[in-house]
Amino acid sequence: MLFNDFRKGLSVTFKYLFKKPVTENYPYEKIKMPQRARWLHHFNPKKCIMCKLCENICPPKCIYMTVVKNEEGKRELKGYDIRIDRCIFCGLCTEVCPTKAITMTDVHEFADKDRKNFHFNMEQLSKVGQEEEKKVG
Ligand code: SF4
Ligand code: SF4
Repeated sequence: MLFNDFRKGLSVTFKYLFKKPVTENYPYEKIKMPQRARWLHHFNPKKCIMCKLCENICPPKCIYMTVVKNEEGKRELKGYDIRIDRCIFCGLCTEVCPTKAITMTDVHEFADKDRKNFHFNMEQLSKVGQEEEKKVG
């Protein structure tokens, strides 16, 4: 009985001995994200029409826009911040955006020990995913 179990166990070991490993050697080898992965946001201030749809629809209210009137009386976008530590990555902000100014990228390596570093401002968000050029709405 014991020998049979031992033989069965060894047969499984030998079966997988020459097969390709299914595990990822992360972080030494990068994981390929699915095509529609929804990770860190990319924000393009040039495309934003300041409609605030994204800010209003966000369930945990983690988008903060600062819109001011300039000397000519025109609205001007002064700030666009996202508290990523509160974001649930639902993608609603990207769904409602009429100009695709806010999109989600496959950039997922932003782990940090300090909560302050999860507060992304407009400048930081505009740089997200620039190399990858892969953005999904
Ligand atoms: S993905 Fe969802 S939770 Fe995150 S900022 Fe957009 S709307 Fe808010
Ligand atoms: S929904 Fe799009 S265009 Fe409207 S404020 Fe948000 S990012 Fe700007």
